[in-house]
Amino acid sequence: MLGLMQDRPLTLPHVFHRAEQFFGHKEIVTAGAGGEATSTTVAEWAARVRRLATVLDTLGVSADGRVATFCWNTGRHLELYLAAPCTGRVLHTLNIRLFPEQLVYIANHAEDEVVFVDRSLIPLLAPLADKLTTVRTYVVVDDGADAPIPDGWLDYEELLAAASPHEGRFVVEDENTAAAMCYTSGTTGNPKGVVYSHRSAVLHSLITLTADAFGLSERDVVLPVVPMFHANAWGLPYGCLLAGATMVFPGPNMTPQAIVDMLERHRVTITGGVPTIWMGMLPLAEGRDLSALRQILCGGSAVPRSLSEAYREKVGIPITQAWGMTETSPIATMATPRSHHDALTEDERADIRARQGQPAPFVDIRLVDPDSGEVQPWDDVATGEIQAAGPWIASEYYRGEGGGAQFTDDGWLRTGDVGTGDRYGFVRLVDRTKDLIKSGGEWIGSVELENEIMAHPKVAEAAVIAIPSEKWVERPLACVVVAPGESVTAEEIIEFLTPRVAKWWLPDAVEFIDEVPKTSVGKFSKKTLREKFGGYQVAGPTSHDPA
Ligand code: ADP
Repeated sequence: MLGLMQDRPLTLPHVFHRAEQFFGHKEIVTAGAGGEATSTTVAEWAARVRRLATVLDTLGVSADGRVATFCWNTGRHLELYLAAPCTGRVLHTLNIRLFPEQLVYIANHAEDEVVFVDRSLIPLLAPLADKLTTVRTYVVVDDGADAPIPDGWLDYEELLAAASPHEGRFVVEDENTAAAMCYTSGTTGNPKGVVYSHRSAVLHSLITLTADAFGLSERDVVLPVVPMFHANAWGLPYGCLLAGATMVFPGPNMTPQAIVDMLERHRVTITGGVPTIWMGMLPLAEGRDLSALRQILCGGSAVPRSLSEAYREKVGIPITQAWGMTETSPIATMATPRSHHDALTEDERADIRARQGQPAPFVDIRLVDPDSGEVQPWDDVATGEIQAAGPWIASEYYRGEGGGAQFTDDGWLRTGDVGTGDRYGFVRLVDRTKDLIKSGGEWIGSVELENEIMAHPKVAEAAVIAIPSEKWVERPLACVVVAPGESVTAEEIIEFLTPRVAKWWLPDAVEFIDEVPKTSVGKFSKKTLREKFGGYQVAGPTSHDPA
């Protein structure tokens, strides 16, 4: 017997029309380069989306053509976020921080037809234009920068002014139609294309509204620091439109000073970004009125416990950790504490917040031993590769390229992360498979070690990588950035770690560096560190004895 409910597709036009009809009075704020903010209403924004839809037609973008953006987080970027998928096209957010060769590869692989580019970013894009073989049109979104505009590149505002608005409702009949795509930053091999569908984007947006995830509501004022090209700003833009939340976009000025100013001025309630952002902002948070903040979302890399605790002490709320990937849309797990954690001490709760968290509803997670292939128990001891399945988890990469091995025969995504999970499903990530240090056949979790080192009050940042050892094959090297105005020795670091980790986990060498190199989305680039310190050789400990 079949259910007798209406079979209506889950598509982004609903998100658009709901916002247009019910939240027209709400605000969308965008900061300019100099910090001055411009504000529009959702009603004005929606009218522009309707015009933009017609512009895509007049530019001759094919029915499912890829509409690329090369933009900061702005209200105008949000126009493209809806106009492309609501007309059946595919939004392709290009990462402005990628190396030129990667950008060329990605734009050509996705077969982008048009690129919308913020004027301040033209100097990064124009030199590549010759190599972008499928792009026919460039449209400049003028953000007030003075970068020269290449001949033949069109003006966004002129196109909008000349266009008549799309009439009536947008219709996308099949919810499995592609809505947006993002490429993984490709820390190994070529970047891989992840293609989101309307259905996955809608379901993922609904999750952002649930209380134990982001808990987005109409009352919220949301500032996504995470770029709109990084896994669709973690679903915040679509989630905000669905909830009717006020949105505040940082625009081109992403300095910690500009972010803290905006958080205070606009009484932001929810913000999100990678740990690097919150590390940079911490010294500036003192004395600021951030009392409206109720959620600082953080993911993309492990959130150091010490960082979260510093926010709790200085700002009044700890950081909420989430774990996911471009391939998981990205919300997979969230570490919002649950009622059974209430009885714990503050210190124990900090340990919970340092975990990656419980799988979101509809996300299935299993931990699989990489050698035996056995699924591991949720006993908080056994570790395994984290595999994920669910309606907003990728089933394959665009054109099936670059990663068949990343999907299991029974259709799960192999995340490349290794962790354990407790009986409540709270996952604790130990490492990425490619970063794990295999000492004498046993694992040392670099992420765990980093967290311990970063808990040292005189350490600003630390990254741990594997270096060669004849006896043990690999041993840990700690690359440490000393906090401003402090000094610390290698011996002090080791002494600090000694009571905290097994003896054979202690790094064999400590290198002091000025800063940890970062990837295009602000994560520690261990690849760069491995290249730099590749020549190291260490003997390692005499044994793996724990004490
Ligand atoms: P890339 O894999 O190219 O870095 P993603 O941005 O998709 O691109 O990164 C996903 C990876 O980031 C995850 O597989 C995981 O290793 C790491 N990651 C994301 N969130 C967390 C977190 N909360 N804690 C630890 N690692 C995280």
